[in-house]
Amino acid sequence: MELTAAEVWTRVLSAARASLPEQSYRTWLAGSSAIALTDDELLVECASEFHVEWIEDRYGAMLSELAERLLGRNLRLSFRPGDPEPAVSVPAVEVAPRTPPTKGSPSLPRERPSGINERYTFERFVVGNNNQLASAACHAVAREPARMYNPLFLYGGVGLGKTHLMHAIANAILADRPETRVSYVPSERFTNELVTSIQAGTTPDFRRRYRQMDLLLVDDIHFLEGKERTQEEFFHTFNALYDARKQIILTSDRPPKELPGLEERLISRFEWGLVADIKPPDYETRVAILRKKAEEDSLSLDPEVIDFIARSCTNSVRELEGAVIKLLAYSSLTNQEITVDLAQTSLLSSGGVIGVVGEPLGPERVSETVASRWKVTSDGLSSKRRTKDLTVPRQVAMYLIRDLLDLPLTQIGKLFGGRDHSTVIHSIRKVEHAMGGDPDFRREVESVREELRKPF
Ligand code: ADP
Ligand code: MG
Repeated sequence: MELTAAEVWTRVLSAARASLPEQSYRTWLAGSSAIALTDDELLVECASEFHVEWIEDRYGAMLSELAERLLGRNLRLSFRPGDPEPAVSVPAVEVAPRTPPTKGSPSLPRERPSGINERYTFERFVVGNNNQLASAACHAVAREPARMYNPLFLYGGVGLGKTHLMHAIANAILADRPETRVSYVPSERFTNELVTSIQAGTTPDFRRRYRQMDLLLVDDIHFLEGKERTQEEFFHTFNALYDARKQIILTSDRPPKELPGLEERLISRFEWGLVADIKPPDYETRVAILRKKAEEDSLSLDPEVIDFIARSCTNSVRELEGAVIKLLAYSSLTNQEITVDLAQTSLLSSGGVIGVVGEPLGPERVSETVASRWKVTSDGLSSKRRTKDLTVPRQVAMYLIRDLLDLPLTQIGKLFGGRDHSTVIHSIRKVEHAMGGDPDFRREVESVREELRKPF
C-alpha cells in the first residue's frame, strides 16, 4: 500500500533523529510536517525561512537518501516555510497546496509572480514608535490605493522594514482584489532590465510592462543616483502611472531632498504624496519584534534571552533577526540549550564555533589569513570583482570557512559579495578538485588550515 505524505515524513524523521544530536533534531526538524506527496516529490513545511535554508543545506542530502531508501525510488524533497499559525496536525490524506501552484510546476512558489513575498504582511509587522506614521500611511494606501498618498515614499536605514511594509501593502491589496496588476522591482533590477532592453532593442516592451501596472513598488530608489538614462525612463513610467491614477510606492535610505544624484523633477514628484520615515526600533519595540519572531518560528525563547538580545542589538530589525539566527545555529552546533549565557557567547563570537583556546575563530580571520597568503586584500575577497587574482583565494576562503566553521552556504555567500549558495558549492568543489590534482596547491591550502587551527 502506498504511504501518505505524513507517513513517509514521520519515518524519514525517526531515522534522521537516530543519527543526529537531539538538540539539532529538536531545533531544526521536529517542527516540520509533510504537506503533499507526488510520484517524485515530497513537500515539507518548516517553521521558518531560516529553517528551510538550514535544513536544505545541512540535512537535505541525508533526508533524501533516507526517503529514497524507504520508498525504493528517487524522491525530491522540497521545503517551504509554514504559515505563522501553529501547525495543525497533518491529515492522513494528501492535501492540495494552499496556494494554487503555477501551471505545470509541482513546487510551490514562495513568491508571487509579481515578486511579492507573501510572508511580508501587516500581521507580521510590529508597529512601534519608530514606524507608526509609516505603518499608518501604508495601511491607508492599502485601503484606498492611489487616493490619499501617491506616491508613498518610505525612507530609513537598512534593515528597518521598508521592503517589508511595501510588500505588506501589495499583499493586502491582492487579498482584496487578486486581479490587481502588481510589480515589485528593486531599482537595481529596473536599471538592469532597461539596459538589457536597450541592447536587445526591446525598450517598448520594457515600457509597456511597467506602464500597465496598477501598483508599482520600486525599492531602494537611491540606487538610481547618477544613472541618468534610467532616471529619464523612470520619470516617464512614473508620469504614465500617476496620470492613470495608479499607486506608486518608493523606498530609499534617505528623504527625497537628500538624493543629490537624482534629477530635480523626480525629487519634486516624490514629494507630491507622502514622505514617511522609519527609525531604528526602541527597546520595547525590539522586545515585541523578538517575541513575534519567536512565536512565528515556534521557538521558545526565555524572556531573559529576549531581553538580552534586545539590549545587545540596537540598530535594526535585521540585526535582531541575525542575532536569533546566530543563537539558534550556535545552540545547534554546540548542542547546548538556549540560555542567556549561550546568547552572550554566540553574540560575542565573530560568527563561527569556538576555537580550542583563545579568541574564537571567525570567518573574518579565515578571510584575512587567506588574503595575506595570496597577497590580496580581504576587502577584495568580499567584493563582487571577478578578476583572476581574487577568484582562487576567494574560493579557498569559502572552502576553509565551510570546513572549519561549518557555516551555512547562504551565509558564506553573503560574506563574499552576496553570492548565492550554488556559487559557494561550486567554489568549494573547485577547491576540492584542485587539491586532488595539484599537490602544491594542496600543501598551500593545508598550511593555511593548520595556521587557522592554532589558537589566536
Ligand atoms: P529594509 O528594506 O528597510 O532594509 P526589510 O524590510 O528588509 O528592511 O526588513 C529587514 C527584516 O526585518 C525583514 O525580515 C523584516 O521582516 C523584518 N522587520 C523589519 N521591521 C519589522 C517590524 N516592525 N516587525 C517585524 N519584522 C520587521
Ligand atoms: Mg529593503
